[in-house]
Amino acid sequence: MAPLLEQPRLVTQFGEQTVLVVSPHMDDEMIGCGGTIALHIAAGAPVTTLFMSDGAGNLPENADPAVRHNEARSVADFFGMGEPIFLNGPDTALSPTDDLVDAVATHLSDVAPGIIYVPWFHDAHRDHVATNHVIWHASQRLSDGLADTIVRCYEVWSPLVANIAVDITATINRKLLALQLYRSQFVAHDPAPILGLNRYRSMAVSGPATHVECFAEYCWPRYLELANPG
Ligand SMILES: [Zn+2]
Repeated sequence: MAPLLEQPRLVTQFGEQTVLVVSPHMDDEMIGCGGTIALHIAAGAPVTTLFMSDGAGNLPENADPAVRHNEARSVADFFGMGEPIFLNGPDTALSPTDDLVDAVATHLSDVAPGIIYVPWFHDAHRDHVATNHVIWHASQRLSDGLADTIVRCYEVWSPLVANIAVDITATINRKLLALQLYRSQFVAHDPAPILGLNRYRSMAVSGPATHVECFAEYCWPRYLELANPG
């Protein structure tokens, strides 16, 4: 008989693989996987963040998008990560242009991640879907492919059906502080909805976890099938 509850698998190893986090906007990476990134870093894994858009879309009129770049740099510093990579695609109008696809292919090849975090390909935000299209097209330009890479889709605007979970009880405070560094964005002033999702997700695991991040994990070939823009 099937188990009463199909719980996601709890991930407990964080230091063994190089990590690439692909984030459409400056804050998605912390919303979707900030607590998990902190665990990878604490375990000694190299973590690189790749921002797809220039961040110009969600700022007051005439505000300088450099504000959001600087916020992302502050978060990277706070977490002990290296300088983020900014691809500066058009915020709110991301698409698989040649420039963006080439840049992503280059970074995928350079970083050769063991694990790549991406926004869920069915997320409600158009740029988040388009980010997956860029990655898919980039994959077609890689001669060696990333056959052994694990893809973990994170949730931002849309909850997903998770097959893995990460207990971020130990890092939720770091995540909260990082969200508050994104001062130009709503998450800095009202992080409660994000923490509420993490709190809710704690029901997905057994034991004393208070906050959990959930993901849909796929092997690279399966991810490419699912994210194929057709
Ligand atoms: Zn976003």
